[in-house]
Amino acid sequence: GAHTSTLIACSVCGTRGCVQCTTACDACGAPLCREHAQPAGTCDHVICPQHDATCAIGGEHACPVCRTTCSICDRPYCDEHSQRCKRCQQEYCSECVRLSGLCDVCAHIDRDGTFVALVDEPCARDVRVQLIMSNYRWVKLESTHLIHYVGRDTSMQAALIVVAKTQAGTPDGAEPGGEAIGPRVRKVAKLGMLDTPYRERWALS
Ligand SMILES: [Zn+2]
Ligand SMILES: [Zn+2]
Ligand SMILES: [Zn+2]
Ligand SMILES: [Zn+2]
Ligand SMILES: [Zn+2]
Ligand SMILES: [Zn+2]
Ligand SMILES: [Zn+2]
Repeated sequence: GAHTSTLIACSVCGTRGCVQCTTACDACGAPLCREHAQPAGTCDHVICPQHDATCAIGGEHACPVCRTTCSICDRPYCDEHSQRCKRCQQEYCSECVRLSGLCDVCAHIDRDGTFVALVDEPCARDVRVQLIMSNYRWVKLESTHLIHYVGRDTSMQAALIVVAKTQAGTPDGAEPGGEAIGPRVRKVAKLGMLDTPYRERWALS
């Protein structure tokens, strides 16, 4: 055989194989034998049983490498059960986007958001944020993976900023050998005229 002297034990069944017949889990790097290295879903990723995930809504295979858990409810979901919010354009599981087309964060931010001085927020380092931040009064609402900001001026013109929180374990806030750049700003958009049922809260008449 072509087997070399270095044998690696499969993390599932313990079968020992050489480098050629052992594959690493695409999520955690654990070694897997040929039998336990079969792609489980529509993508080519090989995932060990510990990291394999099923869609929280329909029970389909949900590859943890192709898609992170839902930014709001933190559950795995599949292609079929994904939906994009019509305002923030972020993808969530279909249960976190309402019939109105808005995600739970966009639907609640006018009522539940905390008023903040945007200049003190980490995203204020982003030049796109700097260009618009002084024009509006801002509220902030956090979900599991994202921070939404909605701003309004006195004439009800609104703007939206979506920031991805730094994932634990990934040095997202820092570039190799460089200064920390802070959270990733995913979206900066002017929304135009956007009325709110919470005018009093916003101190608008
Ligand atoms: Zn095995
Ligand atoms: Zn081998
Ligand atoms: Zn794994
Ligand atoms: Zn599904
Ligand atoms: Zn995948
Ligand atoms: Zn969800
Ligand atoms: Zn949204």
